[in-house]
Amino acid sequence: MSIKNITGMKRLEELKKDIYRCIHCKACKFAYSGEPSRDGVGEWKGKTNRTFLYEGMVEACPAGIEYGWEAFWNAGKMWIARSILNDDLEFSEEVRDVFMPCITCGQCAAQCESKVRTVDIIESLRAACSESGVPMIERHQYVDKLVKELNNPYGGKAEERFKWAKDAGLEKYIDKKGAKYAYYVGCTASYRQTNIAIATCRIFEKLGIDFTLVNDEVCCGSPFFRIGSVTTAKDLMKKNLENFKDFDMVFFSCAGCYRTFLVDYPKWIEEDELPFKTKHAFEMISELIVKEKIKFKPNKELKGKVVTYHDPCHTGRHFGLDMEQRMIEKSKNLMIDMRKVKQQIEVWYDKPRVILRKLEEDVGIKFVEMYRIKMDSMCCGAGGGVRAGYPDFSLRTSSLRCDEANAVNADILTTECPFCWRNLSDANDLYNHELQVLGILEMINEYDLLEVLEEPTHEDIIAIIGRAI
Ligand code: SF4
Ligand code: SF4
Repeated sequence: MSIKNITGMKRLEELKKDIYRCIHCKACKFAYSGEPSRDGVGEWKGKTNRTFLYEGMVEACPAGIEYGWEAFWNAGKMWIARSILNDDLEFSEEVRDVFMPCITCGQCAAQCESKVRTVDIIESLRAACSESGVPMIERHQYVDKLVKELNNPYGGKAEERFKWAKDAGLEKYIDKKGAKYAYYVGCTASYRQTNIAIATCRIFEKLGIDFTLVNDEVCCGSPFFRIGSVTTAKDLMKKNLENFKDFDMVFFSCAGCYRTFLVDYPKWIEEDELPFKTKHAFEMISELIVKEKIKFKPNKELKGKVVTYHDPCHTGRHFGLDMEQRMIEKSKNLMIDMRKVKQQIEVWYDKPRVILRKLEEDVGIKFVEMYRIKMDSMCCGAGGGVRAGYPDFSLRTSSLRCDEANAVNADILTTECPFCWRNLSDANDLYNHELQVLGILEMINEYDLLEVLEEPTHEDIIAIIGRAI
């Protein structure tokens, strides 16, 4: 399998048409509720003392909200890219410090009616900046060094990647001989949010899925694709593609890893598809509910609790944007096809909501949506290298998301990404939002909610339903 060797500057040049399509209208500063007819709660004073109007248009870009100055909003970054291409501006540490504190959440791309690929442009700018000789910020240099030495950005020892599995009595799944399916755990669930990894394994175990953990697993490379350290990211990608190539299906529990395998990897290999099929664990659960193969047990502790859901950018908006982009590239009738792609995106966003509605029906929780959802969802603040590089900004952004959960009187804020879980949880504690942050699968496992009516077949496992990538 050959890997593309292309510089950040060349990628920027390839994106020239997108960059010049930006008319600086600044519509990407704002987002809507996700469902235009939906009422919000109106004015809401958050825990970081910012007041938002959950009604109509809401300020959307976390970088712009945080720094306020024009260049930090997306339109400013598009202007920087244009100036670099025109030789009106040179890369420098000052310029770098404007486009680095961006979560690459894609909110701007989702709002842009000209379909400017803002996240690709920002990532290419970062790569070109680094390749021009401007050093990465110190915190990014540090994680880059760690991952090169240890294959993870947390500084954990390679031999301790699956310590949680050994401690939880799940050792038999490490390099299990003959397993057809693998679970790619990722660094955050391996070294930090082991609760998510354990919950995922326990649920697979209950479902009778013949899976294994691959001992040679390394970081997916997501943070390094985002911060412009592309060589590091590609080295990790090569190892993972080799490690997982012989499985029928690779499962994920992290939105960032899943996005990296599905959206980034195919762009860097000279193939349209990965050598294996992929599924997030929540997809599997959602599909088994629809097929009536599982249900949930009632639970007195959860009954009546108000539960809301945070769409991770990586499995939400980034998937939606990629579905749109693929359609734009091959469409012969964009007007009709864009309607189709909108329907596909809606089906995709409904997957976790199928689980939450079933939990409402069987368990007795009350599922409520926050004001901004789906393609308009507010980011948790962790991605794009921001948690590592700009932790205060990252947590303030996460607090804005927790504010939205408070505004709908949620008791429990769910998500299905360990990295979102970590940031939301830290902001919840730091800013006293008084929420319980839980992964959906974690909730199912912790409260022993799963009842298996019929074990999934090989066909159930490998079917790709409602996803156009
Ligand atoms: S990226 Fe799109 S929405 Fe944002 S300023 Fe440019 S054209 Fe307008
Ligand atoms: S990707 Fe997110 S943080 Fe970055 S400019 Fe766009 S909306 Fe702002």
